[in-house]
Amino acid sequence: GHAHQGLTKAIQEQAERFLHISNLYDHPLQETFAARLADACGLDQVFFSNSGTEAIEAGLKMARRYQFDLGETSRTAFLALEGSFHGRSLGALSCTSNADYRRPFAPLIPEVDFVPPDDIQSLENALGSGRYAALLMEPIQGESGVLPLSVLFLDEARRISQETGTLLLFDEIQCGGGRTGSFLHCQQAQVLPDIVTLAKPIAAGLPVGATVVTKAVGEHLVPGDHGSTFGGGPLVCAAGLFFLDELFERGLLQRVTEAGARLTKGLDRLVAETGLAVQRRGSGLMQALVLKSASGPINTQLQERGLLANACGGQALRFLPPYIVSDQDIDEALGLIEEVLVDKSSPSITTPFPGSTP
Ligand code: PLP
Repeated sequence: GHAHQGLTKAIQEQAERFLHISNLYDHPLQETFAARLADACGLDQVFFSNSGTEAIEAGLKMARRYQFDLGETSRTAFLALEGSFHGRSLGALSCTSNADYRRPFAPLIPEVDFVPPDDIQSLENALGSGRYAALLMEPIQGESGVLPLSVLFLDEARRISQETGTLLLFDEIQCGGGRTGSFLHCQQAQVLPDIVTLAKPIAAGLPVGATVVTKAVGEHLVPGDHGSTFGGGPLVCAAGLFFLDELFERGLLQRVTEAGARLTKGLDRLVAETGLAVQRRGSGLMQALVLKSASGPINTQLQERGLLANACGGQALRFLPPYIVSDQDIDEALGLIEEVLVDKSSPSITTPFPGSTP
């Protein structure tokens, strides 16, 4: 969306060659993109689709397939976290906890349970039942207001899932792909899952989903089990390779860290100096301010001033700026946020928050 010259050129050049090729054929761009993604994740194999929700569907099917092949035919359930968001197709929605999203589409897929984030005891009790094919979690929950899981919880999730024969699936569709300064956010905690899902940034704005897995999981999926006509097509892979070059070869990942530090400092200052913001959460370029009141009206005022944020989790204002955001943009954004937060004439500031929605 920002007319990046190099990206435009990479897409144009590929468009002049071929846009689509039957998935009966390999094409080198897909192999290279898959190998580089797997390498960046420290995993082995990649299944490409066209969106985040499809990446989750592939992950759920791979987990079931793996357990089926191991003879674990009663290990069919999924365990996810309260506050989770994994997408809107039926499988992904079934693993999403928000009742408002779920209710109109019931019945969803059976045997999905939820435990509270960072509650190790509940996790241990649930996984001890031996019913679950996989445990799903976002290392930083996005839709529920940028809630990072603790390193201890991620660590324990790895240990308990390993000990109980449950696969661990991290949904890094929002927090991964470089957004928090490492390729996967979980790499900062040094916890590696069996399956990780990626989407949003990894083809720099073109539609893509990637389910990245260990060989031990991936080798169970055989041709015909799952597929996608457009997933991992040449145009998307050309954009994806360009994105990875920018990220790793031309300093974009480092820039995310620097820009994130500037944003962190600015938001921390707003928490210290304005009465309305009570906490900053998140890292890198995935951040939120938690407000004393509902974030919706404040978000509307920001949009009216030209700043696109998001109100999520009831009282959180979420910021997910583009990786190429400049220092000047960050400072301007912080100025606008400050303006709205200290605008005592605003009726929204005195509106009490009516109650939390997950
Ligand atoms: N998982 C997470 C954590 C997300 O944030 C999203 C989208 O917001 C999805 C899954 C679904 O991705 P998509 O909208 O590409 O289907």
